[in-house]
Amino acid sequence: MATTSQNIFLTKKEKLKCCTCGRSVPKGHPYVAETENHKGTCFYCSPFTNYTLLAPGNAAMTRRSKKHSTLCAVLWEWNARRKRFQRKGQFVEDQAIEKARIECEQDQAIRAEKNKKAAIVREQKDKEYIVLFAHAIRYRYPYCPEKREFEIALHACEKYSGRVGRTANAKDFDPKMIDLAVEAHIRHLETNYDDQFGKGKRKKEIRSEVKGDILRVLKQWRGL
Ligand SMILES: [Zn+2]
Repeated sequence: MATTSQNIFLTKKEKLKCCTCGRSVPKGHPYVAETENHKGTCFYCSPFTNYTLLAPGNAAMTRRSKKHSTLCAVLWEWNARRKRFQRKGQFVEDQAIEKARIECEQDQAIRAEKNKKAAIVREQKDKEYIVLFAHAIRYRYPYCPEKREFEIALHACEKYSGRVGRTANAKDFDPKMIDLAVEAHIRHLETNYDDQFGKGKRKKEIRSEVKGDILRVLKQWRGL
């Protein structure tokens, strides 16, 4: 297992020589050395001739392929504008890339399975929340017609789906939130609010027209 990385520079120097075969390494060609100022070899005299270049950008693949490769060499290219060398990938063995790819695929499968489970839990929690909410509505509006509390709770939860599931007790619901949900329900189902639109009236006007009817029904349902 590789623990250290060798460096390979696409050299910016003109006069480098391979210390094994003695041939010169032209500018822009790979020079295998700790730094450009160290003694090094040309790529062909290095152990990496049969290795594969893995492109950068996938941290898990980079880490894992290095772990599985006998040797690892990071390829550096000179960036003239930034005045520093930048990673262009790493040379690792084919088998190491293959192992890393399989590991990443397995991860993905595990992650997908986790997401699926989380979605099921969330759905269950949403259902529980709707039941709790419905109970809270029934508690505050004891004369609300049968089963309507579920309709109201379901609608409110759909409308505010982002806020669903934050309480475990029916008594913890904010009365104001309950009132608003019930009020909206009454407005649409117990008044002629929806029929008033498209007759040249403003929303504000229509709202104030049905306000009295809503209050009357609210009082009835609360038993006041
Ligand atoms: Zn050489």
